[in-house]
Amino acid sequence: MTTLEDCRALDAQDPLRSLRDQFTLPPGVIYLDGNSLGVLPKAAPARIAEVVAEEWGQGLIRSWNTANWFDLPQRLGDKVARLIGAAPGEVVCTDSTSVNLYKVLFAALSQQKDSGRKLVVSERSNFPTDLYIAESLCRERGFTLKLIDADELQGPDSVLTEEVAVLMLTHVNYRTGAMHDMKAITAAAHAAGALTVWDLAHSAGAVPVALNESNADYAIGCGYKYLNGGPGAPAFVWVHTRHAGKFEQPLSGWWGHAAPFEFTPHYRPAPGVGRYLCGTQPIIALAGLECGLDTVLAAEAFDGGKGGMAALRAKSLALTDLFIALVEERCAGQGLSLVTPREHARRGSQVCLSRAEGAYAIVQALIARGVIGDYRAGDSQMPDILRFGFTPLYLGFEDVWNSVEHLAQVLESGEWQREEFNRKNAVT
Ligand SMILES: *Cc1c(COP(=O)(O)O)cnc(C)c1O
Repeated sequence: MTTLEDCRALDAQDPLRSLRDQFTLPPGVIYLDGNSLGVLPKAAPARIAEVVAEEWGQGLIRSWNTANWFDLPQRLGDKVARLIGAAPGEVVCTDSTSVNLYKVLFAALSQQKDSGRKLVVSERSNFPTDLYIAESLCRERGFTLKLIDADELQGPDSVLTEEVAVLMLTHVNYRTGAMHDMKAITAAAHAAGALTVWDLAHSAGAVPVALNESNADYAIGCGYKYLNGGPGAPAFVWVHTRHAGKFEQPLSGWWGHAAPFEFTPHYRPAPGVGRYLCGTQPIIALAGLECGLDTVLAAEAFDGGKGGMAALRAKSLALTDLFIALVEERCAGQGLSLVTPREHARRGSQVCLSRAEGAYAIVQALIARGVIGDYRAGDSQMPDILRFGFTPLYLGFEDVWNSVEHLAQVLESGEWQREEFNRKNAVT
């Protein structure tokens, strides 16, 4: 049995403990939703104010040069690259995840347009925006979207056949927290002649990612989840250098032009990753994203300058292991089932529990107590889910203890059955 004293001892020994000081967290809150919206870095308000008052207010248009606004997407992309196993110059920060998915999926489909392959394969349980974008692109470009369950990717009856043009997967599932083996799946897709598109929304800053080592083709990811970039922060795009010169940018705006300030009448794409940009970038939002990226990269001090993800991963697994163990001790017999894989190699940085009844209301009752997680509706294969994200940058072991204690109390007391917790808000 783990005790509160054990958890406090783990915090006292935690080498990453000081990283929490980089954040402003409201008092009395245990924040288990960094997988949906990361918390505010302490540096962000002052930095954003400086960009507004000084760079915009005083520098005005000169700041494109004097404050280096123009290459911000590339400079921040180089920071993201350190977190996802990519090289400098291979990533840009821009647009939203949905828009970036449109761009890279379009590019991958264009590369396959003369191959005779007609299928785009993705998981039924993928995040809806990914499926919606793929649906419309397939319709426009004459492909068919085939939705599968994860187990259909393996074995002799694998769906990866010579009909598949693109395999589009999210590395860590947003609801279950299950993580794919990127390297093995990419190899299987390539063996079948398909290209891969990976969504890293729940991976970047959460788990180690090795894009180049996995030999992946295209990847995109989100700036406001584990990267703490702020609500609606710019997302990012990566492409393997073997495709860089062939990438077709469907949104061929002037920022992706080889020489935007020549103002020529015809589009000529920039040679490298710069062609993923479309129009003028949101400089204030990019400044916020940089503050968020720096909070993650601060963990580099704990792994010899290798991006920090190995150190963060070790703590993340310790936190999620502890949460699972405590829930099983303290909430036994309360109807909760673990949805997230126990196996470390298959687990992201979140833990999801399902319950046949009351998942939404239980989450609301926890939020009223200051324990902020979230709820995701179930489907034909899975009951409703209580979702808890664990961000090792600002969560400690005592936080885990306290959150399970609150969960146990909410369930034992039946507090969640109150009417106020059963009324649905617009955003869940
Ligand atoms: C969060 C998330 C998104 C978000 O896309 P936006 O364009 O930022 O709204 C997309 N895909 C996945 C898999 C996500 O988890």
